[in-house]
Amino acid sequence: MQASIIIIFLALAAIIWGIQRYRVKARRNRLLQEPLAPEHITILENNVPLYTRLPEEFRESLQGCINYFLDEKVFVGREGLEITDEIRLVIAANACMLLVNRKMRCFPGFETILVYPDTYVARNVSYDGLVEVHEDSTRAGESWYRGPIVLSLADVVRGSSSEQDGHNVVLHEFAHKLDEENGFMDGLPVLRESAHYKAWAEVLTREYDEFLDRAERGKNKVIDEYGAVSAPEFFAVATESFFEKSKQMKKRLPELYQQLQTFYGLDPAEW
Ligand SMILES: [Zn+2]
Repeated sequence: MQASIIIIFLALAAIIWGIQRYRVKARRNRLLQEPLAPEHITILENNVPLYTRLPEEFRESLQGCINYFLDEKVFVGREGLEITDEIRLVIAANACMLLVNRKMRCFPGFETILVYPDTYVARNVSYDGLVEVHEDSTRAGESWYRGPIVLSLADVVRGSSSEQDGHNVVLHEFAHKLDEENGFMDGLPVLRESAHYKAWAEVLTREYDEFLDRAERGKNKVIDEYGAVSAPEFFAVATESFFEKSKQMKKRLPELYQQLQTFYGLDPAEW
């Protein structure tokens, strides 16, 4: 008698789980196919030049991705900042550029985006032997492993509005989120096919070494020198340049461009 009650209970739990899963999937598919409201498209046209450059064939996909992103993520204003539709849309549109032709989930593993009005001070804690060392640093953004993204609105606006200077804090921080999807933030994100890993490792390792060498000689022109900090930072700043200095990257660093083109499924140098 007791065994049959347990079986009925488990069957019911499985049915409820199946229904919930179906609902989540149906909601996601509906959001991905829904176009943005005309007033929201106007916000993108006025604030996100990358959106206006994006070829027509990807616009529908980007709008669906933005819908899904806005449904999934929670925006929290800091230091009294009020989160508006414009703030949400500008951040979502830049972040979704990375997903527009990747058919991936919407940056899984975290939910919250904290937005400060301007650069903010973060406190680093490190240890020198047994001594705890506190160091304050001013930041435009950061991505916590399996945790929130933090952004300075002033830098978001600056990065989004000048789309050819190679600086875009939203592209940068969300590239880190793609990087950590396999469980490690190491500059190696999840590639489309297992056959792609060998070429990625060869090209990215070589390009990173050459980049470090150029940076040391002050001869670096395409990628921000902040990439010299580590391989994950190199991937994040290379992503910024891929979208914002795409023609220069394709011309000067064609192999790196080719790897990112395959990864993102986009060719922004031709937009
Ligand atoms: Zn970074």
